[in-house]
Amino acid sequence: MFALITFLTALLPSQQADLIFHGGKIVTVDSKFTVHQALASKNGVIIKVGSDNEVLKLLDKTTVVVNLKGNMVLPGLIDSHVHPVSAAMHEFDHPIPSMDTIKDVLDYVRSRTKIIPPGQWISISQVFITRLKEQRYPTKDELDTAAPNHPVIFSTGPDASVNSLALKSSGIDKNFKITDGGPGQIEKDVKTGEPTGIIRSCTRLIKSTNETARKAESSDRERRVRELFNDYNSVGLTGIIDRNSNTTSIETYEALLKENKLNIRVALSHSVGTADNLEKIRHQIQKIASHPLRTSGSSMLKIIGIKTFLDGGMLTGSAYMRSPWGISSIYSITDANYKGLLFIPRERLLPIVEETIKSGLQFTAHSVGDGAVHELLHAYDEVNRTIPVAPTRPCLTHSNFMSAEAITTCARLGVVADIQPVWLYLDSHTLRRQFGDARLRYFQPLQSLFKAGVTVGGGSDHMQRIGSMTSVNPYNPFLGIQTAITRVGRNRTDSLHPIESLSREQAIRFYTANNAHLMFLEKETGTLEVGKRTDLIVIDQDILQCPADNIHRTQCQMTFIDGRKVYEKQPVNRSN
Ligand SMILES: [Zn+2]
Repeated sequence: MFALITFLTALLPSQQADLIFHGGKIVTVDSKFTVHQALASKNGVIIKVGSDNEVLKLLDKTTVVVNLKGNMVLPGLIDSHVHPVSAAMHEFDHPIPSMDTIKDVLDYVRSRTKIIPPGQWISISQVFITRLKEQRYPTKDELDTAAPNHPVIFSTGPDASVNSLALKSSGIDKNFKITDGGPGQIEKDVKTGEPTGIIRSCTRLIKSTNETARKAESSDRERRVRELFNDYNSVGLTGIIDRNSNTTSIETYEALLKENKLNIRVALSHSVGTADNLEKIRHQIQKIASHPLRTSGSSMLKIIGIKTFLDGGMLTGSAYMRSPWGISSIYSITDANYKGLLFIPRERLLPIVEETIKSGLQFTAHSVGDGAVHELLHAYDEVNRTIPVAPTRPCLTHSNFMSAEAITTCARLGVVADIQPVWLYLDSHTLRRQFGDARLRYFQPLQSLFKAGVTVGGGSDHMQRIGSMTSVNPYNPFLGIQTAITRVGRNRTDSLHPIESLSREQAIRFYTANNAHLMFLEKETGTLEVGKRTDLIVIDQDILQCPADNIHRTQCQMTFIDGRKVYEKQPVNRSN
């Protein structure tokens, strides 16, 4: 009998590995969070995880062997929320300095007046007031002084501060009223009634143009997005979700895939405009549901759902809250009853969510304030009465301000969330000044979400510049992991509601297995288990043991996707 089995085994296809990692700590992120010494892969798929002895038996003459020398291996990290094409193209026209103070902003405006002809627009985008030293908008007067002969727009999320010429050339004066049916608020001086220059959630009304900018070709986009994806790989990312893709970004990814140059798994939340009439919106959703990247997309590139915008931002003073924001010098709020802005009223949101869920797509909406979060959960709950929503993994994007009830509802309905811990890192000192800690009790309540069984994934909302720590927003996932554990923002030393801190294991899951679930790829990636794809990274420190505030310094040494090495850190040449 024994001889027969040996004979039959010899006839079976060889289980020899083509790639082996040994002598390290393989953090599998399986259900028990098992850590092993070694891992074997064949044709891009994991065939064994275990002790060095067990795995090295699968070695043959052609196997590529990586001696980890004690280093840690994690599943490839995934970012739940990026905007790669616009981020990669941000500095295509000219390098843009980082701006940390009002002076930096005004210096930049002045420098542009020397290049751009008078009368043409100077635009600054996504410099967040919460991150400026002065924690406020540049005023109309300051912008007027810096650029008396140019219209200027300083836009931050959906809001903006503009100068006098910008207001004039957009036809906005004392008597102006919003009549296009869209959301928004033009702030006016309480005494004079003149516009102050603060425009909330209606930058569409500012008639800015960009005539002097260099025009990009598709080859420029492909080159720069490739450069960005290489940088993503260098910090350990093997998967991303583009949370507002459009025809241009899809063409860019498809071109890279066709040329075999797509080095990262990309899932797409397709943008859908919600200002049109409902029939047109339904048509847009159906078109996305029948797109080839939806019906036959691969694990490298596929459409998972749609994205809309439900409210403004917490970095800009327009997130829709359940209680008033409060009068604020930071956000230039003068109305004590102001709660922020809701972009899609209930009666429109419901049919849009329903159509999306009926077509099997994941719905998500930018929902920052607790008011917006509750509105979206209400819509999911209503639809769930007739169609179970859970199979489509309906999502809350950002979901910064939550509540105990919101968490329970997410768990009951199978709602997932896409959250940005780096905003806690960068912005919580300003938010704590604005709201006070008590009102921030359910700010990014990660531990409560984990405990309730809600699948929540970590992401950056990367939208500008290539550079994992200098970009807006920083996409270095180790900074995200660290912040989810410490909840300590910059400029502070104390943790914001440490009861909501994640453990090390949870924080790793947050950027791996959970995001694989958000991408509908949990059967293929996100953990290091037999049968899954060999998407993994080798890192230079043990992030289960090192001091928590050192996690952001973690360096990725190698990155593999489907067993293919897409990044290796080059040794520093010490002789130079
Ligand atoms: Zn975003």
